[in-house]
Amino acid sequence: MNLLIMGPPGAGKGTQAILIKNMYNLVHISTGEMFRKAYMDKEPLGILAHEYIKKGELVPDDITLSLVEETLKKVPIKQGFILDGFPRTLNQAVKLDEILERLSLKIDAVLNLVISYESLVERIIGRRICKNCQAVYHITRMKPKVEGICDLCGGELIQRKDDTYEAITRRYEIYNQTSKPILDYYQKKNLVYNINSEDNIEVSFIHVQKLLEGLNDNAKK
Ligand code: AMP
Repeated sequence: MNLLIMGPPGAGKGTQAILIKNMYNLVHISTGEMFRKAYMDKEPLGILAHEYIKKGELVPDDITLSLVEETLKKVPIKQGFILDGFPRTLNQAVKLDEILERLSLKIDAVLNLVISYESLVERIIGRRICKNCQAVYHITRMKPKVEGICDLCGGELIQRKDDTYEAITRRYEIYNQTSKPILDYYQKKNLVYNINSEDNIEVSFIHVQKLLEGLNDNAKK
């Protein structure tokens, strides 16, 4: 099963993608996470990308596409994958299809997480991530056992540089401008499934699971 997960910043893409990856044994590819890791590792590409990310802007397509293409060559993509945060422009969507065609692969579904602006601001402002392993927490919704420390690896929890009001406003604006053409592109292929992401993580994941079980059943028929 090859999936894309879309939705505005703070909709829960990363959290749902990890739950889906674990349940269906997929490879999880998050472009945002790849950029953050490359920045923390002081890689030139990461430092370049950070200049755009901290302002809430998209990283230019040439940088993003080369990173994705390189990653797709390295991971065991044939076992199935979930792409999180990519594509974010129509050009990326078209290029992704070209890459997948070369690999004789295709997208099975696009999960589009739907959430109100008020909820996503609340989620983003309270979000904390592990500096070391990038696990995601929230100051009220998903607290670590020990404040400021990652449950999984003991790393320090920090706020992302782009999780500020200024950057959120810009990121949301960009999402509204760029997501429609991408959703229209996949809608024409009948691949888009809207998921209500307003509820808590567990309830949203039940919606996701119901959908994916349905898709799996149909694929077997
Ligand atoms: P995310 O972790 O998905 O919220 O991504 C964090 C930031 O990384 C975004 O706000 C963008 O600046 C950048 N980014 C992630 N994925 C992409 C992409 N596919 N294209 C361009 N920029 C991206």
